[in-house]
Amino acid sequence: MRSLITAASIILLSTTSISTAAPKNIILLIGDGMGEAEIALTRAYEFDGDEGLFVDEMKDRGSVIVKQLMVDDPSKIEFAGESASGGTTISTGNRTSSGRVAVRAEDGSHYITILEEASEKGFKTGLVTTSIITDATPASFAAHAQDRYCFMTSSSACSTFNDTPIVEQMLDHNVDVMLGGGTNLLPALEAGGKTVGEKAVDHGYSVITKRKELMELASGTKTFGVFSNGHMPVEWQGAGGKGADIIAIDANRTVIFPEPVACEANPKHSGMPRLEEMAEFALESLKNDNKGFFLMIEGASIDKQAHVAKPCGTIGEMLAFDRTVKMAVEFAKKQGDTAVIVTADHGQSTQVIYRPEAYAGTLRRDHIPGLYQLLLTKGGNELGAYYGTNNINDQSHTGVNVPIYSYGLDDPEQLTGVIQQTEIYGVMSKFLFE
Ligand SMILES: [Zn+2]
Repeated sequence: MRSLITAASIILLSTTSISTAAPKNIILLIGDGMGEAEIALTRAYEFDGDEGLFVDEMKDRGSVIVKQLMVDDPSKIEFAGESASGGTTISTGNRTSSGRVAVRAEDGSHYITILEEASEKGFKTGLVTTSIITDATPASFAAHAQDRYCFMTSSSACSTFNDTPIVEQMLDHNVDVMLGGGTNLLPALEAGGKTVGEKAVDHGYSVITKRKELMELASGTKTFGVFSNGHMPVEWQGAGGKGADIIAIDANRTVIFPEPVACEANPKHSGMPRLEEMAEFALESLKNDNKGFFLMIEGASIDKQAHVAKPCGTIGEMLAFDRTVKMAVEFAKKQGDTAVIVTADHGQSTQVIYRPEAYAGTLRRDHIPGLYQLLLTKGGNELGAYYGTNNINDQSHTGVNVPIYSYGLDDPEQLTGVIQQTEIYGVMSKFLFE
């Protein structure tokens, strides 16, 4: 299902090339659920706690306070964040309540997003994620909805609030490059009796579903690439696919700890493009435009794997995200006039706790609620990963501060020290538009 670039996009290309202002680019990388705990877990597993991550080398860094408004009463505060409200705060500078996509918590009116502004001013735009492309984080930049799950017309969340499906809004925004999961979106029947796939082609997109197609596609092609049914499979898993579990006890109520296990490649990820491959295609496609570009890249499953208490899943996604950050900074160094901002929308539930011997065998399950997994790090050390917000596999986001790193800002101190999440939008807007 490929198509040529439409006449309309060629006209757009030629009109934007008249601009004389120096091009400015922003690469915003969001590690979903990437609190310090998820970073610490990854650093411990891969580097035995040494500063081996690329983000550890980024000297301009700060700490972001995350909070959102309460769903039932937006005059009140919820002290743990969520992806739709966090995405909205980053993309618009306004706080909203859980599940709302770039709309005001009080009355549902639309907030204009940084991507919409950039697009209106003639910048190229891109969204890259490892989740379904319509998920809350990318949606917060190119759609407006009262309920983040209004993906397509058949989503029941759309009828509740009469929202236009997120996928249709994204296509109507003509985001130049959209890459992520969501092959299941393509056959969905939308308004006007056409499928999402047909609508994408009508909008001038090359629609691709395979890594090979991405690798062979000429950069600069307007692309709607979806590579998996729903969210993309993650890179790593625990041994045999296992995650953290309730700690077993014997007849004497003494804890039976399992042997430490190493993480392994997730066979389901084979054939998928990696996050940095999708990001590279987007960067090559958006660069050298006379105006510049805004690109959001999300490592979505740092969060999703913490929800299901799978530390190896989180570690593999965190490493992929970190490699992508490195690539983005290297691109910015070469390209110039490019700011890279790296942050998270909210924290997650992962904790690194003592290995079991520290409790000298007297530990009883009663004293450890939640789920535990003992990992064997690359350096041969034992690493205890723990999730205690729930005894079932649906862990909660947490209200910890999240990090923010930057490269290439004229005044990096804007994003150092302790800042509010609402401040990020203004820094991006100033860099791109002033
Ligand atoms: Zn989440």
